[in-house]
Amino acid sequence: MSSLRLDKFLSDMKIGTRSQVKTLIRKGQISVNGTVIKSPEYKVTEKDQIMAGDHQVFYRKYEYLMLNKPAGVVSATKDNHDKTVLDLVSGSSRGDLFPVGRLDRDTEGLLLLTNDGKLAHDLLSPKKHVDKVYIAIVSGHPGPDATALFFEGLDIGERDDTLPAKLEILNSGDKSLTRVTIREGRYHQVKRMFETIGCKVLYLKRISMGTLNLDDTLLPGEWRPLTEDEVSELT
Ligand code: URA
Repeated sequence: MSSLRLDKFLSDMKIGTRSQVKTLIRKGQISVNGTVIKSPEYKVTEKDQIMAGDHQVFYRKYEYLMLNKPAGVVSATKDNHDKTVLDLVSGSSRGDLFPVGRLDRDTEGLLLLTNDGKLAHDLLSPKKHVDKVYIAIVSGHPGPDATALFFEGLDIGERDDTLPAKLEILNSGDKSLTRVTIREGRYHQVKRMFETIGCKVLYLKRISMGTLNLDDTLLPGEWRPLTEDEVSELT
């Protein structure tokens, strides 16, 4: 960490909003290396011992949030027209978060937001084969050979067929409820895979990515920080 203003450091470490931490600093409740510091612009690094009252504030380089992405929001950091996933967590973030991969505008479910570029790369790299699990409601009934076709790999109009994927039919009728596990993240991949077997995806939700499972207490649009265990299993 290069040096940072004391108020920015404290708000990044979630001690309070920028204005709340400025008040704490001005009231003399923050010390750096044993000396009370009353100026918010005072520069600190991770080597400094920073205390808020009697509680030491440790530096955390990375932040990890789990969002239950609602439909109608784009997986981008900025957009001129639409609400972005970053807008949903504004106020909580340090300003350098980004979504790990993309879900379509109409897709719901698990999206990890972080500022940890290496983790994002590892989770997204096709070579790492990280499983992503989706619930899909599709029109019609996938034929009896659909599971084998998904497993063998499908021609979705690209140079290479898709890697082996797992299709489970959970329930079927006019519409079918399915669970699909893929290891890649090609553009509209699940929708295009179903298209090749004559089904249209009507609803799509991601429920897990690698070891990380969507917390089912999060309503669409809600988020929470990852627990220490979730972070250490992922990294
Ligand atoms: N596959 C899709 O078709 N859409 C998504 O959002 C994710 C996977």
